[in-house]
Amino acid sequence: MTRTLALLLGTAICASGIAAAQAEELNLYSSRHYDTDERLYSDFTDATGITINRIEGNADELIARMEAEGANSPADILLTVDTSRLYRASEMGLLQSIDSDVLEARIPGYLQDDDNQWFGFSQRARIIFYSNERLENPPSTYADLADDAYEGLICIRSSTNTYNQTLLSSIIENQGEEAARAWAQGVVENMARDPQGGDTDQLRGIVSGECDIAVSNTYYFARAIRRPVEGLSEGIDGVGWVFPDQNGSGAHVNLSGGGVAAHAPNRDNAIAFLEYLASDQAQQYFSAGNDEYPAVPGVAISPSVAHLGFFKPDDVDLSAVAQNLGTSQAIFNDVGWE
Ligand code: FE
Repeated sequence: MTRTLALLLGTAICASGIAAAQAEELNLYSSRHYDTDERLYSDFTDATGITINRIEGNADELIARMEAEGANSPADILLTVDTSRLYRASEMGLLQSIDSDVLEARIPGYLQDDDNQWFGFSQRARIIFYSNERLENPPSTYADLADDAYEGLICIRSSTNTYNQTLLSSIIENQGEEAARAWAQGVVENMARDPQGGDTDQLRGIVSGECDIAVSNTYYFARAIRRPVEGLSEGIDGVGWVFPDQNGSGAHVNLSGGGVAAHAPNRDNAIAFLEYLASDQAQQYFSAGNDEYPAVPGVAISPSVAHLGFFKPDDVDLSAVAQNLGTSQAIFNDVGWE
């Protein structure tokens, strides 16, 4: 049994007496900031005696900070959202490969980096929403979004957004570059307006009548069910949703996740923390905090997410998808997706 597992069971520290001399710590660089996180962290500390020092910021700032700190960085873990950011961090040499039987067993393969530099701990699907008052036949696949039938109806955000970059990268992975280019061109031709705002703004467009179709991550919709989101919650009954490609490759998913920092001073504690994040209770806190789906199969989903229901995810390898990010940016530029 690994030392990290022993730490999780709360035995190593007391047995060795080392902890009394050296405070066990973990330096967490995190772009998370959710209500459930206090329990997430305090339960870990209660179980292991490891104190968590949180350094919070937006993902790009944290990555820049780790790069600037170099080998002297105190970071043990980087926690953030989206494969593209974790991929970038690993390409920059900011993360390290780890061996963990717990993570291998608990986290599905498509949510792990090939080199085990990062792991997904919750997942969100990027799906199709539509006006169930104005549209009788909504798209049922991503390919449908490029169909002439939906000309002038679609609201989707800018190509500078990482979610769209990863979505197009997955289409490249599944269908090849030329099909992906034709798809992007078709979506541009079907846009209801120039891309603007975040995913919530695309959903608001359905409520306001500006868009009949919107592409959004699931959690923005689920959040508006859980608590009032202006311009959306009051009209949410008029918004239907489709998990795309349920008879094909499945709905595109992305992840929230993290990895161990390249120069982690508390490497064992970092691995123990990631293993803890894969436990049933931590999975519930972690996913519920942002109205996401747990990464670990069989873990209970929160009520707002249950409203959306279960779906077949596209289990294409997200590390392979991430390698298409450069190509997807070139395609977006070529087809004039702002
Ligand atoms: Fe988001």
